[in-house]
Amino acid sequence: MKSIPKELQAVIDADIPVNASRRTFHHGCSEGKDAALSVKRLREGYVFNCFRCDFKGFIGGRKLPTGQILSMVKGLSVKPHAEIDNIVLPEDFEWMATPPDMNDIPIEAYTWLWNSGVTERQMDDYEFCWSDSYRRVIIPIKDDEDKLQGFLGRDVFYDKETKHGDKYILRKERGLNRIYFTCHVLDSMTVVIVEDPLSAIRVHDATGYETVALLNTHVGTDLLREYMNYKMVVWLDRGQLSNMVGIVARAQSYGIKCSHISTPKDPKAYNDVAIQAMFPERRTE
Ligand SMILES: [Zn+2]
Repeated sequence: MKSIPKELQAVIDADIPVNASRRTFHHGCSEGKDAALSVKRLREGYVFNCFRCDFKGFIGGRKLPTGQILSMVKGLSVKPHAEIDNIVLPEDFEWMATPPDMNDIPIEAYTWLWNSGVTERQMDDYEFCWSDSYRRVIIPIKDDEDKLQGFLGRDVFYDKETKHGDKYILRKERGLNRIYFTCHVLDSMTVVIVEDPLSAIRVHDATGYETVALLNTHVGTDLLREYMNYKMVVWLDRGQLSNMVGIVARAQSYGIKCSHISTPKDPKAYNDVAIQAMFPERRTE
């Protein structure tokens, strides 16, 4: 690279925290108010990528292999949702429960899971991975036959204050309608509907019930049909109260016995005892 454009230099000069990213104008390229140039600070330096032209690359204190730079740049420009033919996990994925080298995976990836009470056994059971190119925890989504339908990518550096970028991205097999993250149980006739996969895992483990994470999608007719003979409990955080009331009403219109639990936070924020206390009928089943 011959010279660093001044808008990119300005981000570098601003000395943003490691793993933070900024969007800025690409001079002579960004149209109107479009901040097309995305710049992210990594431990190793700065990666940048313009959404409008092919200006992309890496500026750092030390040399990195070209392949690694390309994969980091790719991670900057991911779309929140995409459909893919013959979906597979990202080619650079590493199992989080058994990585070849623990240092390959940022500690933030583990602390996100630990803070939600997810154990190493669960990381193993649900095949949680880390992808360096996406710089995200990858959560596979499978159907009843254990076939991959898609995956979620959680940005563990997501900043709640700036809300820059996408906390979750979803990749799914082309042509599939809605996909849900499900913890299956053979002998449960109760299903608990939650928003996110970690809540699904935690509620499933604490109660033994089947759980389904909606992944920010709607409750489709397919889902209601599948659980026609179940007792359904919808447990979402308080911010989703109106959504929850709608789901309960739809389920009841299908003849499903459906109730709801509303708490200040997602189920994963609570310990097992608190989760179990939400289902007092469990003991008598
Ligand atoms: Zn550009």
